[in-house]
Amino acid sequence: MLFNFQLSTSKEGLIDITAEVTEAIAESGVNEGICIVYCPHTTAAITINENADPDVKTDFISGLDSTFPDLATFLHAEGNSDAHLKSSVVGASEMIIVAGGKPLLGTWQGVYFCEFDGPRNRKFYVKVMGDWK
Ligand code: ZN
Repeated sequence: MLFNFQLSTSKEGLIDITAEVTEAIAESGVNEGICIVYCPHTTAAITINENADPDVKTDFISGLDSTFPDLATFLHAEGNSDAHLKSSVVGASEMIIVAGGKPLLGTWQGVYFCEFDGPRNRKFYVKVMGDWK
């Protein structure tokens, strides 16, 4: 079963989409299986990371900013090559095990949509596959 979601982003940042993923799995009725969270964008990404300390989200972005600065030598006319690099390195999708009708996440894990070149209207998909109850 495929679910799609939309969101409006700010310039850069991580948006917690764990609730949407959990909701899609519940609605699918799948009890045991896998779920793929995918974003169809070239300057955004999906990741799983800590959901406890909000500073982790800020450090995640500032760490990527220093690792992938907006270099004057970049050729891409749109001027967002740093965002394209971040998107590929973090990745367009995550695969999550579904167990007991829920995403099998660690206590401190959340699923995040990562914006690297906002603000924009974005979307992401959740595909749930597996055995029904
Ligand atoms: Zn571009």
